[in-house]
Amino acid sequence: LPPLAGQAPGTALEALQRIFGYDSFRDGQQEIIDHVVDGNDALVLMPTGGGKSLCYQIPALVRKGVGIVISPLIALMQDQVDALQALGVRAGFLNSTQDLDERRVVEAQFASGDLDLLYLAPERLRVESTLRLLERGTIALFAIDEAHCVSQWGHDFRPDYLMLSELHKRWPDIPRIALTATATQETRADIARRLDLEDARHFVASFDRPNIQYRIEPKTDPKRQLLHLIRNEHDGDAGIVYCLSRNSVEKTAEWLVQNGVEAVPYHAGLDAPTRAANQSRFLREDGLVVVATIAFGMGIDKPDVRFVAHLDLPKSVEGYYQETGRAGRDGLPSTAWLAYGLQDVVNLRKLIDTSEGDDAHRRRLSMHLDAMLALCETVECRRVQLLNYFGQSGDTCGNCDTCLSPPEAWDGTIAAQKVLSTVVRLDRERRQKFGAGHIIDILVGKKTPKVIQFDHDALSVFGVGAELRDTEWRGVIRQLLAQGLLAVEPNYGALVLTDASSGVLRKERQVRLRREPERAATTAKAAKA
Ligand code: ADP
Ligand code: ZN
Repeated sequence: LPPLAGQAPGTALEALQRIFGYDSFRDGQQEIIDHVVDGNDALVLMPTGGGKSLCYQIPALVRKGVGIVISPLIALMQDQVDALQALGVRAGFLNSTQDLDERRVVEAQFASGDLDLLYLAPERLRVESTLRLLERGTIALFAIDEAHCVSQWGHDFRPDYLMLSELHKRWPDIPRIALTATATQETRADIARRLDLEDARHFVASFDRPNIQYRIEPKTDPKRQLLHLIRNEHDGDAGIVYCLSRNSVEKTAEWLVQNGVEAVPYHAGLDAPTRAANQSRFLREDGLVVVATIAFGMGIDKPDVRFVAHLDLPKSVEGYYQETGRAGRDGLPSTAWLAYGLQDVVNLRKLIDTSEGDDAHRRRLSMHLDAMLALCETVECRRVQLLNYFGQSGDTCGNCDTCLSPPEAWDGTIAAQKVLSTVVRLDRERRQKFGAGHIIDILVGKKTPKVIQFDHDALSVFGVGAELRDTEWRGVIRQLLAQGLLAVEPNYGALVLTDASSGVLRKERQVRLRREPERAATTAKAAKA
């Protein structure tokens, strides 16, 4: 390794310029770096792309000893270390992908003081030999990347992160810097508590990404909606399309290619060489679209991603924010577009109800989903809602879909009562296997074979909902689910009442709904023009 020893940077600014080749610090970086260089603890919240890495890399270079970086992103360690070595920084990593010989080399470098930075996978901390190794060298600082992984409130809890308290116990005097891009105030408090960083200074950067236009629209024909977005606004642009399942990743990528969009799939089921090839094509080429599961994008640093599209509903606002945050890192206008529908809500609710873990865990998942649904169904500025979620305030942006074409709110109390009474009628018959489609058929008075088979055309609610179209009823049911006025029965996926439903049925409670736009994809554009 080309040693920096003997010419180690004296100041943070010198390191920034001489080693990293940047002229000046970004907002917040200098303060954080000075604070850690001086030996203090810090908790840093900064959005993706904000420049968190330098906040621990530079202090590690300026301070005596090796900076220990704990990161769960094992797949990226090699890249990160390669990139640092290319700058002349002496970096290494220890994780489960290495064989014993490779590990020995890095361990020897550490012990003899030949490293500036050592990346560690959290599971390494479970091995006593790792802790013994750390005792043999001089440690400049501990950096805890993706610090939200320590919190069960977060969306990405990793039990191994609980081992981090051990580091602090053994090395109480070494400064620690914990960093995350996503944390609500609750998660932040939890991180601080679990890592014993309550007395540390908290640096909270703005989560506002003004160049990203947020848009969320009802899912009608998702692939066509996506194609419409790409053709009309992002022809030839690089973009990421997120789908929940591998199968829909494959199908969507194929379909885009058939329709003349250059696209490749990315998911954990592909073999490693294909994955690596698709990822490096995305990084190198202009205007390639990657269709991926959320596994894609962690640590991907491509500045000119012009759009991020979600064809399925993310499970949490944190996830949504992190994924959409991969758009527009270069600061140029970019689109975060999401299509979501009734079936998303049904699927995710079912997933939660049947997920492993205790009730408290399921309640947390459910809270995450509720917050995501609230963002989807809001009649307020999306950006303000996002910022509020992360405990920050902002002015209406004038750029998101709700700002550009404010959704009409309407009094959906009677419509809600119609849906809920239909659900009651079906429930009374003890036949809980009727989904949204069947309920809508009854409401609009469609004599389908299933309706006739169960004599549902004889119900008093049959045909009482002719005033709305099918898609509008789907919107009503989706929003009732989102508002907790309907629930999904976990075994069959049938719609059932909730405790809150009775207030609506007894006419004690009003229901405000968002009007379904006719063609959401074009309205946002028309308003922009
Ligand atoms: P984060 O970890 O917060 O997502 P990174 O640390 O990966 O962000 O930084 C994002 C990008 O910004 C990287 O390409 C990084 O080199 C660049 N960057 C960070 N700080 C500066 C700076 N002061 N000047 C110019 N570029 C910077
Ligand atoms: Zn707005």
